[in-house]
Amino acid sequence: MPQRFSLSNRISKIEESGTFSINEIAVNLKNQGKDVINLSVGEPDFNTPSHIIKAATKAMYDGHTHYTSMAGIPELKSAIAKKFKENDIDVESNEVIVTAGAKQAIFEVALTVLDKGDEAILFDPAWVSYKQCINFVGAKTVWAKTDENFIPYDFTELVNNNTKLIVLNSPCNPTGVVYGKDTLNMISDIAKDHDILVLSDEIYEKILYNGTHLSIGSFDGMENRTITVNGFSKAYAMTGWRLGYATAPPDILNGMHKIQQHSTSCANSFAQYGALEALNASQKATHDMLDEFKERRDILVDGFNSMGVKCETPAGAFYLFVDVSQFNTNVSDNLFIGDVIANTLLNNGFVATVPGSVFGPDSGNYIRISYAISKERINEALDRIGAVFNL
Ligand code: PMP
Ligand code: GLU
Repeated sequence: MPQRFSLSNRISKIEESGTFSINEIAVNLKNQGKDVINLSVGEPDFNTPSHIIKAATKAMYDGHTHYTSMAGIPELKSAIAKKFKENDIDVESNEVIVTAGAKQAIFEVALTVLDKGDEAILFDPAWVSYKQCINFVGAKTVWAKTDENFIPYDFTELVNNNTKLIVLNSPCNPTGVVYGKDTLNMISDIAKDHDILVLSDEIYEKILYNGTHLSIGSFDGMENRTITVNGFSKAYAMTGWRLGYATAPPDILNGMHKIQQHSTSCANSFAQYGALEALNASQKATHDMLDEFKERRDILVDGFNSMGVKCETPAGAFYLFVDVSQFNTNVSDNLFIGDVIANTLLNNGFVATVPGSVFGPDSGNYIRISYAISKERINEALDRIGAVFNL
């Protein structure tokens, strides 16, 4: 049949998600009976803590099964405003929006602040969806380089009259790196000097192994140019609940409201009651998950180092970004080493990882490993990796 309709130019510029597509391959192989160790997707493997599930179930029985106020239920917005105050971001509940995942908040920000011709700065490597959100709205991604520890260099030379937004993510997916005060000061100075907005994605705030989390939105002069995004997926193992939140300067928040009114209407009603419980109740479950993630991280880092693969210990998130350039020297020039290694690991060892190339133009020598999987499986994965590459 001849095709009557063509797709929009917009969608033709969007690439599939590099994280979800590998995960899909791993799940399909599993469904075919293959014993795949899935180190690809970044989602906590723990169950949502039961007190959160109980609160959401109760909300359903109590009749909270209807649309809520577009920006979220008042109790949750107040709890989120209180939570932002812990980050020294001084906002009230009317300055907060509850979204269907942090992802929706990020997409709403891109739609609200960026136009064709605008430029947004990402630090290489960066989580896959930022670039696609920027693509969606016809803006341009400008990649800023990071050093050997994945810390951004001064990127003033990349700024021009079209630069509208800087996106940062600390703790970082895919590296696990946490930015210190100096780095955040460098970013905020550039933002202030050149009148640029900052989107700070703090979804891994609670997956922090040492130190205290710093929010750039709390830095001097940043309150009117920072959009801070966070969510429940990682801290409370609530990925499927689809709940995130943000605070932004009034005009931007207003734009996000409009998008939400015309798209999802509001976040899921009873999930919001679960989230309220997550914020208000004891944080013990989150601390327990953090302890477990830390043990897994250490097993992996030690495992790689003892195989002769140099690997630093990241301070946050649940990812390792491993330089695999030493694994294979026979990769032809037009291929990324990380792509070849990730493929080899999947095909020959049934270990699924994400090639670094999906996270940025300078990250092709890496693979990302998500350690949201049991210690037993991590040890087995290390054995398989060693066996595939004779390490
Ligand atoms: N930001 C980063 C850096 C992430 O890794 C994720 C996880 N997919 C998100 C945002 C989105 O999280 P959510 O599940 O809340 O949409
Ligand atoms: N944040 C996770 C990851 O990076 C989930 C998948 C996604 O949203 O990209 O694997």
